[in-house]
Amino acid sequence: MINLLSINLPLHSYADIIFPTAVRQPFTYQIPDSLRNDMRIGSRVWVPFQRRKAIGVVVNIHSDTPDFNTRSIEQVLDEEPILNAEMLSLTEWIHRFYYCGWGEVIQAALPAGLNFYSEKYIRIKNLPDEKDLNEEEQNICEEIAEKESYLLKEAKKRWPPAAIKKLQKKGILEVWEEPELKIAPSTSRLWEWTDEDSPGKARELIEDHREQDKMYKWVEALELLQMLGLPEFQKNLSRHELLDSYTLNRIADEGLISAREVESTDISFKYEHDPEKLKKLNDEQEAAFREIKSALDEEKFANYLLFGITGSGKTEVYIHALKEVLEKGKGGLVLVPEIGLTPQIVKRFYQIFGDDIAVLHSRLTVREKYDAWRSLQNGEKRIAIGARSAVFAPVQNLGLIIVDEEHDASYKQEDPAPRYHARDVAIMRGTITEAAVVMGSATPSMVSLYGAKKGKSTLLSLTKRPLNAKLPEVKVLDLKQYRSAMKGPIAIPLYEKIKDAVEKNEQAILLYNRRGYASFLQCETCGHIPECPNCSVSLTYHKSKRQLRCHYCGYAARRPDICGECGKAALEAMGSGTQQLEEQISDIFPETRLLRMDFDTTSGRDAHADILSKFARKEADILVGTQIVGKGLDFPDVTVVGVINADTELAFPTFRAGERMYQLLSQVAGRSGRADKEGKVYFQTWQADHPALKAAKNHDYKEFARRELAFRKTLKYPPYSRIIRFAFKGKREHRVRQVAEVFTGILIEQVGGFDSVLGPSPSAVSKVQKFFRWETLLKIDPTNGAKAIEHLLDKTFADYDEKKPDKSTSVRINVNVDALE
Ligand code: ADP
Ligand code: ZN
Repeated sequence: MINLLSINLPLHSYADIIFPTAVRQPFTYQIPDSLRNDMRIGSRVWVPFQRRKAIGVVVNIHSDTPDFNTRSIEQVLDEEPILNAEMLSLTEWIHRFYYCGWGEVIQAALPAGLNFYSEKYIRIKNLPDEKDLNEEEQNICEEIAEKESYLLKEAKKRWPPAAIKKLQKKGILEVWEEPELKIAPSTSRLWEWTDEDSPGKARELIEDHREQDKMYKWVEALELLQMLGLPEFQKNLSRHELLDSYTLNRIADEGLISAREVESTDISFKYEHDPEKLKKLNDEQEAAFREIKSALDEEKFANYLLFGITGSGKTEVYIHALKEVLEKGKGGLVLVPEIGLTPQIVKRFYQIFGDDIAVLHSRLTVREKYDAWRSLQNGEKRIAIGARSAVFAPVQNLGLIIVDEEHDASYKQEDPAPRYHARDVAIMRGTITEAAVVMGSATPSMVSLYGAKKGKSTLLSLTKRPLNAKLPEVKVLDLKQYRSAMKGPIAIPLYEKIKDAVEKNEQAILLYNRRGYASFLQCETCGHIPECPNCSVSLTYHKSKRQLRCHYCGYAARRPDICGECGKAALEAMGSGTQQLEEQISDIFPETRLLRMDFDTTSGRDAHADILSKFARKEADILVGTQIVGKGLDFPDVTVVGVINADTELAFPTFRAGERMYQLLSQVAGRSGRADKEGKVYFQTWQADHPALKAAKNHDYKEFARRELAFRKTLKYPPYSRIIRFAFKGKREHRVRQVAEVFTGILIEQVGGFDSVLGPSPSAVSKVQKFFRWETLLKIDPTNGAKAIEHLLDKTFADYDEKKPDKSTSVRINVNVDALE
């Protein structure tokens, strides 16, 4: 733990410093007299590191003289620590529990703009004698001499790197490195209608042009603007080819629209702020809120599991609790799964809390993240809302942490390190800061449910929907029985229902679970499937681009005409992706308008929200998508939801398959029929008798959980154990295997028995980017915490270092504590 007493004590002569590497030990440096008064734990410093210089973070200051020579700190980079005692303790715990470098954790916790980043510059060291230089060299020196500093990477773009190297060798130029700290606040161009009459004028203008058959490009663009809606940032508009800045300015010349610069994290123009609209809680919600409030009143750590069926009003409970915490003068943190961070959810929090909210998401630019971070750090904003890494948001005086959809797998970071679980980090942060933690879900994870049973958290239940909407009826369509009664990928009853709905001007959503399952090419003569040359996975076929792609390493190639194995021109598209499904659906329903939402269509910044809002505006009848549509299903006119392949999740070699299937299906089933129209849900499956599927059909979480826990207990799977996965990676397969075997042997010795060690074995995807992968799973007692894990792994790795077959480091070993996949 951090020695708080040593903060600000100027007497100490040594500082322990960490760097963003996997090395787990800090490095000790000497504090020169000149810097003694400026040294703070949690500040960044500039130090010599190996043969260069680097930014590190001070994690301890002391006077224990080390028994080796120490180098001196050169510069203190922060007047005020960028990490307070709370964040230092938290990151230290992660470093120990998840067994990774402390610096790796701090790197993940800080926004990129504050990170361990430095820049190389070039300058004149000795003025050259002109006649020793050729013309090019003279030019280079002249230009560099003119400026005070010149970025090395810029110089290398401007002149041949060899020429610069040569001048360096001659001692004329020198390179030096400086920490990069400056970041300017970011603004973005926002386009708005000039006044409230503008949209009307625009409409007239478009009509006029249409009548005269004169559709200039800018008029077309104007029409598109009307469809998209203003205000909107230029960077979002310019994703449409038609809306380049030239055309926007052309429209502005007509006086219809105008632009201004606003801070790009500012969302106030987008949402309404009206705290009066706070809803009155119903009895169940009120009871849950009272419980949480009692913890807030005590200002002590407390952990709640808010188990409420979909649509039972969990979000309203969060909002009331946050309001309470703000009234106490404290701050709050709201974690949501990455794809749960939709404008709909932000809007609800914004309505009550307005500019008190900082939204953190992965698509912000470096500067925007930095701005948001600063606004929390200096107390300007008191609530942070964001996905996984927002668990590190520097909310001041934190009183409440909410983890919405706590079961969601996206809370676990798999690669690279730190491989932390944001829910568990949130609980630890709550413990350190004495804040209340509320984990909410309609389908709590087995781990959290078991925790509640064991008294680690308090269970709060919401069993009703406040708006009296009913949970929809679910029908299971057993594909074995419908084999000859299919319309393409859809069984007849579902087909009829969709047809009906579309005729009544209602909407349908079709969900296609594509996890690790995609379309591919197969030779109809020899059965050969093209594979990625780097990874042992089949390549995915993207029909629109006529391209084969590897979803692991990104390798791409044009669709081959002939089979690489037998040479026949018999490659056919197999399997099916969402894109193919979309085509099949449009063949079956030729008159309907379709929208598709999957990873490929949502890689743009706001694409996810764009598609959903189009669907909400009823610009399409059917939405086809992967599981990400499961999160946005809150449309009053959707009356049919179909899951094309409800059992795909079971094809994955993990004991969590049943839990995943249950979560996915109940998410979907619970989302439809939210408003007054009754919704119907269909599951198409080859395994109609599967208990998880049946439980989801009956909206029966308790039954699912009872069976699932019994099954886990017999096989000692989590929550009855904690799983640590060791992954071995290297370019030479026999080496990887050898290392895996030696390491696993040591592990078995350490834990004293085979029972709890599984492996080693090749990973499910055994080759990625030319690296072979093996793995070993270790099951330990789940009550083991950071101390026990660190102790066990320290000993294992120390032993391994002595016995390792491969003195070089050509095989890497990754540790993943509480691995999910
Ligand atoms: P959950 O987060 O559990 O899925 P929500 O908080 O989104 O549920 O609530 C579902 C719907 O019910 C929302 O439209 C919400 O505005 C409404 N709602 C929730 N609580 C109340 C309440 N006490 N009074 C009126 N409407 C409510
Ligand atoms: Zn690949």
